[in-house]
Amino acid sequence: MIQDFFRKDLSDFESYNAGKIDYKVRLNANESFNNLGAATRRKLGMVIEDSIYNRYPDAGALQVCNLYAKYAKVESINVMAGNGSDECIQIIAHTFLNTGAKVAIQSPDFSMYGLYTKVAGGIPIEFPLSEDLKLDVEGFITMANREEVKIVFLSNPNNPTGGTITRENIIKIIEGCRCIVVIDEAYFEFYGETIVDKINTYENLIVLRTCSKIGLAAIRLGFLITNNVLMEELKKVKPPYNVNAITQSIGSVVLEEPKIIYKNVERILIERKYLWEKLSCIDGIKLYKAEANFILVEVLNAKLVKEQLLEQSINVRSFTSGVLENCLRITIGSREENDCLLNNITLGNDNNM
Ligand code: PMP
Repeated sequence: MIQDFFRKDLSDFESYNAGKIDYKVRLNANESFNNLGAATRRKLGMVIEDSIYNRYPDAGALQVCNLYAKYAKVESINVMAGNGSDECIQIIAHTFLNTGAKVAIQSPDFSMYGLYTKVAGGIPIEFPLSEDLKLDVEGFITMANREEVKIVFLSNPNNPTGGTITRENIIKIIEGCRCIVVIDEAYFEFYGETIVDKINTYENLIVLRTCSKIGLAAIRLGFLITNNVLMEELKKVKPPYNVNAITQSIGSVVLEEPKIIYKNVERILIERKYLWEKLSCIDGIKLYKAEANFILVEVLNAKLVKEQLLEQSINVRSFTSGVLENCLRITIGSREENDCLLNNITLGNDNNM
């Protein structure tokens, strides 16, 4: 049987189901609601026309890494580009994990840390957040050292909670954990705090960033930022031409003019404030601190609310078990999309509001 050749440890894995994308209001995937402006898109049209299609792209994605380095205020030798930061997570897992190696993650946190750990043959050790979705920092460090994990993955701000870990506590974790510490700053632009300035202070620190949340989800471009020693090791595993030429060019055009990003972020932050204020006026909805481009809310029955929203072609992310039971993660949309959500959201009881 052909299945005899399959990996037994993958037998209960399920393929990633990103869901339908033809909803009228898409507030489920933490994307930016702004497309690039017409002038930038016209410029990209010329870039695409002038691209060299018969040659492999630059294997090190040098130009876009240089520009990202400037944007992130680091040196370009400390930057590696990935096909989304997803790929950076995968490269980290494959570089440092062998079969049976343990990895410490918070629960809940971004699901890909656990997935890529398992695909690499490693074992994710989950450390639950408290009922109010906070991390017990000392407890986490103790657990990571007791389990002798090789990697700690943490998103800051956290997806899906939207909560954050203070700089002081991030430093405690980097200094306290005897392993590689990956701080995933996918939502950095909506929070403003970063630890990227410490990549050369700590030998065990890797920072992740992405362009997906700031208007470029379609092109798949993420970055890994770390010191030279870890970078050399990671380069051994990085696929040679992992970021295609078009992505490199589009990323470069946008990063050459970072005000495109700043303006986009500003618009998202205005809408976050608006949505937060409106949601907080609705009795029966509990809101969690929102430092990313989404708001986590708790309702009476998240499954029902989600179904009711889907009937109006509004898609949000719902959680039905664990500490996030009855929570919805709502990505910040445009004013029109946010109003549409606000006009249709219910508490999940039988009396629609
Ligand atoms: N890290 C976190 C915390 C995320 O939420 C996401 C996207 N949902 C990613 C990484 C992956 O982003 P990318 O599109 O760059 O692969």
